[in-house]
Amino acid sequence: EQIKNVDAVCEILDARIPVSSRNPDVDELTAGKPRMVVLNRVDQADPEGTKRWAEHFRAKGYAVLESDAKSGVGTAKFAGAVRELLADKLRAYAEKGMTGRVVRVMILGIPNVGKSTFINKVAGRKTAKTEDRPGVTRSKQWVPIDRNLELLDTPGILWPKFDDQMVGLRLALIGSIKDEILNIDELSLELISYLKENYAGTLAARYEVEETVERPVELLEAIAQKRGCVQRGNEIDYSKAAALVIDDFRSGRLGRITLELPEAE
Ligand code: GDP
Repeated sequence: EQIKNVDAVCEILDARIPVSSRNPDVDELTAGKPRMVVLNRVDQADPEGTKRWAEHFRAKGYAVLESDAKSGVGTAKFAGAVRELLADKLRAYAEKGMTGRVVRVMILGIPNVGKSTFINKVAGRKTAKTEDRPGVTRSKQWVPIDRNLELLDTPGILWPKFDDQMVGLRLALIGSIKDEILNIDELSLELISYLKENYAGTLAARYEVEETVERPVELLEAIAQKRGCVQRGNEIDYSKAAALVIDDFRSGRLGRITLELPEAE
């Protein structure tokens, strides 16, 4: 409904899972509008991975902004990036003498990627939280960013797409899906296996375990032993160890990790 009122669309993605945190319907919804991608949460992602994703999206013709909306790193570059994206259009306006024309941008993204935080930082204000319901825009207000740039004050919320099992898994790992409906043990084994392959030495350093074991479950067992995750009768408490590893990942104690890379997609 609002697409026709904007000059560009800005999609906020989680830099740790830029594809899985993306709704492919955006391509259709945005119908040829100039597009920007914000790789948010760069503070939690692997800097090398973020660099590769930025190159990937730039090569596809998107303007790309790397941001940590929580502390405001990168958000000051937003206005400039929009002007660069719309340079041709702005030049055409200027040639017609329409220099005062205001550019409008819509922010889109799945829940919890940092849309509200990003808008607030860019607009320099404190609160704005939208309902996590797709397509719901409560009020249609424009927030001025500067003299010639406005944002819709409510971001467009989209659901992620779960067609691929890996997408669900990665969204679960970053905490976008309620833990009550997840199999924590399975999730931790996927994470362990990914870390072992892509971030060798990470688990060894954190838990003082050998990474040479064949199966991920053996690593989980070793972690459980080291961290005293045992039940009565000296039985391993798998779920406790699994929760510990996932919590360490989510809180950044395992370092800055990106869960998917462009080549692998
Ligand atoms: P929305 O649902 O997309 O509007 O997401 P919010 O803006 O409400 O952000 C969800 C949570 O993520 C909040 O606790 C934010 O403080 C946090 N957050 C947002 N952006 C970042 C970021 O770049 N880095 C980190 N570490 N946390 C962020």
